[in-house]
Amino acid sequence: MRLLLVEDDRMIGEGLRAALRLEGYAVDWVRDVAAAQAALGSERFDLVLLDLGLPPGGRSGGAATGVDGMTVLRSLRARGDATPVIVLTARDQRGDRVAGLDAGADDYLVKPFDLDELNARIRAVLRRHGGRAEPSLRCGPVSLDPATRQVTRDGRRWHCRRASSRCSRR
Ligand code: CA
Repeated sequence: MRLLLVEDDRMIGEGLRAALRLEGYAVDWVRDVAAAQAALGSERFDLVLLDLGLPPGGRSGGAATGVDGMTVLRSLRARGDATPVIVLTARDQRGDRVAGLDAGADDYLVKPFDLDELNARIRAVLRRHGGRAEPSLRCGPVSLDPATRQVTRDGRRWHCRRASSRCSRR
């Protein structure tokens, strides 16, 4: 799974990137509106984590021009791109949450947030986007719960080693 993290705060961005990589996601991190637009215009992502308060970037030289994370979200949806988006923002006003969801965000988290909650929301949004209501992935007799990384085959638990991705019966 490949995520695009759009966050201008260096400490938050570094922390989130490290935490999400530990969860097994490939993470591309950009810090302004122009870089986010460029990444989304040229690459495919499974999910976008989008801060709302962002510098415009690009040739504007960082001056405030009224563009922000909502600009990224609106132009993504205007192109018909349905990549799921979770908005991450310090703006805790109800009006901002409503505007974000109305502009096409799939979910919304107000900073500071709990990493476990973020991970659970990412899984829930990816699940909904994939058209699955069930939390585990199934293929024949094998199922995987992404939350616990628990694999079962015919109802029996298997142990997975991340480095080799090979499974063996416990
Ligand atoms: Ca910000």
